[in-house]
Amino acid sequence: APILYWIRRDLRLSDNPALTWAKAQGRPIIPVFLLDQVVEGWGAAPRWRLGLGLEAHAAALEAVESRLTLRRGPALDTLRGLVAETGADTVVWNRLYTADERARDTEVKEALRGDGLTARSFNGHVLFEPWTVETGSGGFYRVYTPFWKNVRDRDPGETLAAPATIPAPEAWPETDALDDWDLGRAMRRGADVVAQHVHVGESSAQARLGAFIAHKIDGYDIARDMLAEDGTSGLSENLTYGEISARTCWHAGQRAMAEGKAGAETFLKEVVWRDFAHHLAYHTPHLTSGNWRPEWDAFPWRGDNAQAEAWRRGRTGIEVVDAGMREMYVTGRMHNRARMLVASYLTKHLMTHWRVGCDWFADCLIDWDPASNAMGWQWAAGSGPDAAPFFRIFNPETQGEKFDPKGRYRRRWVAELPGPENADALAFYDAIPRSWDMGPGDAYPTAPIVGLSEGRQRALDAYAQRDATE
Ligand code: FAD
Repeated sequence: APILYWIRRDLRLSDNPALTWAKAQGRPIIPVFLLDQVVEGWGAAPRWRLGLGLEAHAAALEAVESRLTLRRGPALDTLRGLVAETGADTVVWNRLYTADERARDTEVKEALRGDGLTARSFNGHVLFEPWTVETGSGGFYRVYTPFWKNVRDRDPGETLAAPATIPAPEAWPETDALDDWDLGRAMRRGADVVAQHVHVGESSAQARLGAFIAHKIDGYDIARDMLAEDGTSGLSENLTYGEISARTCWHAGQRAMAEGKAGAETFLKEVVWRDFAHHLAYHTPHLTSGNWRPEWDAFPWRGDNAQAEAWRRGRTGIEVVDAGMREMYVTGRMHNRARMLVASYLTKHLMTHWRVGCDWFADCLIDWDPASNAMGWQWAAGSGPDAAPFFRIFNPETQGEKFDPKGRYRRRWVAELPGPENADALAFYDAIPRSWDMGPGDAYPTAPIVGLSEGRQRALDAYAQRDATE
């Protein structure tokens, strides 16, 4: 009987434990992707980018004599339907760790086993699974540095080779047409613009890692913070869809470290931050939905508001914040330092709930990762694990001077600022909804929507008040 291989965030052939196990059984394999209840909830950019990833992966599967079957519907019902159609007796997948993914997967595993089928899951998404990293007293980690110290000398195991061929079933099940899913529908005008910045598929991810190790990792520890530099790997987009495995990145980083490349350890630490996010999402599932520290429920966060809308449109009047927001709209990504600054400005100076920003990122980022995004937002807001203390409020202007000393990043993304015309800044106007009614002729705001010292003081007062009422 054939094996159903349920593809989720693992659009790759190499270092794929579920696929490797299936292949070792010596039986036909049917790779399927489901547009299920979890994926239906994704934002505009992640869905669109998923479509590109599926297209590339379908071609990669054909090159190894296999085929991708697409189906839409709730995971369990759809898998049961496929089992009935194909006579499969086994379903395999690589595990995921956020609350809604786990709820789905647990339901599927229990029900399929109840049906008398074999249902098996594997670790293909993280380096070290959440329950395998324990503190001295057997608990989980709430702070990053001890987590890093625990895992840095561990071996995540060798990477697995890609299969040269995947055995096909006698007959392929019917598949939906990817175009009919119209995954790019919600991207409106942005798709053509963001399309110029994506690196889709497994071979492109491998090439990106290779180029990073060859040319950038050496200075990465310093360059990664500089806003105008292209000093990072760019791999988050590929890691989130599993077009490359974290383990492949880990081994490449380890080799670079053995060769004495200065930034290699910092790179490994960043890849481990991603593991830490999944560790937290697993052990504290509310990470992605509510304040990680419950005392923050008493903070007078504002819900969505007109200033948050100005923030989304890159019209706060704080240049570095506006630059970050527009970079995200044009490229589907944002520099890590800018992510920290825009998140801090929204949650502190604008006193707006981190959820508002977290949701906007989830709609705009092509590297959206539910665990890393929520952890990043809660870190910036002060409500999260290992968070920056609330009273240490970033000053975006001094941060801009420090990490973008020549203003190149700000001018690259904000067209209204003085300087020669540039295509990246102008591309923003091609990507935004027409209803935003913005154009390159607009004058840049003469004053910030909330001034830096005024906003800082208001946030600190509210924070003092929260502690007083606790
Ligand atoms: P590199 O610097 O080359 O790092 C290598 C890899 O390490 C990354 O690809 C990523 O997988 C991982 N990594 C690096 N920094 C972090 C971090 N702080 N947390 C978790 N993993 C990290 N990252 C996402 O992948 N998806 C998100 O949705 C996301 N949202 C964020 C929201 C906020 C508010 C903040 C402050 C950070 C967020 N990050 C997110 C983390 C980080 O900004 C990105 O991972 C990074 O900018 C990606 O660029 P890169 O691939 O060039 O990273």
